[in-house]
Amino acid sequence: MFPASGKSRQASLQRELFPDTSRFFYFINMVYFCYIDESGTPEIPGNTSHYILAGISIPISKWKFCEKSISKIKAKYKLENDEIHTAWIARNYLEQSRIVDFDKMDYNQRKQEVTKSRNIELLRLQRNRNSKHYKQTKKNYRQTEAYIHLSFNERTNLLQELADLIGKWSFARLFGECIDKIHFDPIKAKQTVDEQALEQLVSRFEHYLQIVSKSQNDNELYGALIHDNNETVSKKHTALMRKFHSQGTLWTKIEKIIETPLFVNSELTSLVQIADLCSYALRRFFENNDTNLLNRIEPRIDRKNNKIVGIRHFTDTNCKCLICT
Ligand SMILES: [Zn+2]
Repeated sequence: MFPASGKSRQASLQRELFPDTSRFFYFINMVYFCYIDESGTPEIPGNTSHYILAGISIPISKWKFCEKSISKIKAKYKLENDEIHTAWIARNYLEQSRIVDFDKMDYNQRKQEVTKSRNIELLRLQRNRNSKHYKQTKKNYRQTEAYIHLSFNERTNLLQELADLIGKWSFARLFGECIDKIHFDPIKAKQTVDEQALEQLVSRFEHYLQIVSKSQNDNELYGALIHDNNETVSKKHTALMRKFHSQGTLWTKIEKIIETPLFVNSELTSLVQIADLCSYALRRFFENNDTNLLNRIEPRIDRKNNKIVGIRHFTDTNCKCLICT
C-alpha cells in the first residue's frame, strides 16, 4: 500500500476524531479547533465579580502533539486518567495541612490519610444534622478526590507546568471575553452576559481565521468551536447559536466558523481542560490580581502589531490592567 498523503491522513484523523461531523471536514484543507470554557457565573450579581469565556485555538495538525504533551505532564503527577479541573486543583485542602508530615509520605499513604480524615469529618457533619453543610462538603471532597495525593506545592507546580506548556505553543492563540459584571448593563447591551461573551469570542476567532486564511492564501481554511458537553453549557450555547443565526447580529459576518459547535466530553478531551485552565487564569488575574498563571500563557494571546486583540476586558473605561492598556 502507498503511504497516505498528508491530506488523506488529515481527513482520516478527522473522521476518526469526529465520525458524526466528518462531512464538515472531509474536503477541507485546514481546520482550526477553538476549545472553549467558562469561569465564574454569568448571573448578575452571581457569586463572582467577573464572567470569563476563554477559547484556545490550535490547527488540527497539532492536535496529537498537544494531547501527548499534556498527557506527559499528567502522568508525572499520577493523573493519567483524571480530568484537570484547575479551580479544584488550586484550592487549599484543609485536611492536608492537619496531617503531620504529610509532605514526607508517599502518594498512597497521603491518599489513605486524607480519605480517613475526610470520612471522620463527614461523620461529624452527619451527626450534627447540618445537611446543607454535609452535602456541600461531600461535593467538595468528590471534586478534589483525584488530587489528594498531591501537596499544595505539587498541585501549584502541576498547573504552572501546564501553563508553561501552553505558553510555548507558538501555533496556538488565546481568545477571551472577560466581563466585569458591575459594569454590565443588560438593557444597554441588549443581551445577557453569556450572549455577549460568546458573540465576542467567536467574532475574534473569526477575525483571526480570516487573517490566517489570507496570509496562507488558503480559502478553504475553517474553524470549529469545541465546547464541554455538560448539560448547562451545551444547552445554553446551542440556543445562543440558534439565536445568533436567526437574528443576525455579529454573526452575519461569520464566514470561517462552521455553524454547528461540537460538544465533547471534557474528561476525555485534554484541550477542553486546557481552556478551563486559561479561563481560570484570567479570572484569577481580574479578581485577585494574581498573574502567576496568566503570565505563563500570556504570549499566546492573539495580537496585532504587538497590541492585544484576542482578549477584551469589559469594564470601566479607565482600567489600566495588562489587557486594557
Ligand atoms: Zn482591564
